[in-house]
Amino acid sequence: MKKTTSKAQDSTKRALKSEQAMIAGIMEGSPEAIGVAVIRLECGCRKMAAVDKNGDPASKIIAYRDGADSICAQCKEDNGAFHRVTESFIDWAEPELSDEEKVTIEVKVLGNRPLPQ
Ligand SMILES: [Zn+2]
Repeated sequence: MKKTTSKAQDSTKRALKSEQAMIAGIMEGSPEAIGVAVIRLECGCRKMAAVDKNGDPASKIIAYRDGADSICAQCKEDNGAFHRVTESFIDWAEPELSDEEKVTIEVKVLGNRPLPQ
C-alpha cells in the first residue's frame, strides 16, 4: 500500500526507539494483545492502546509525550482529535497475523482503509 505523502524511506510505519519501550510495556500488561496501535499526533504527543485478535481494545488508551510529564494542553482539550493525527499504525507482536487479518484489524482500530494492492 502506498500513500502519496509517504517519504522515501518507509520508517513511518515502524515504532521509533522511544515508542518501542512504551509498546513493550503495554504488551507486557496485556496478555490478550496481538499488537499495539500507535497514533502520532502533529503536536508530538502519542496515543497507544493494545488490541486483541478481534480488533478490540486490550488495554486502556495511553497518551504520553516524549520527555514531558504529561500530554500538551491541546491534547488535554481535544483528547488527541482525529484530524491532528499524522500517522497511525499497529506494531504487531510475534507471531504476526496474515495480511488480511491485519487489514481487517487496522480498519477497525484505526478507522482508515488501507487497500491491499
Ligand atoms: Zn499533544
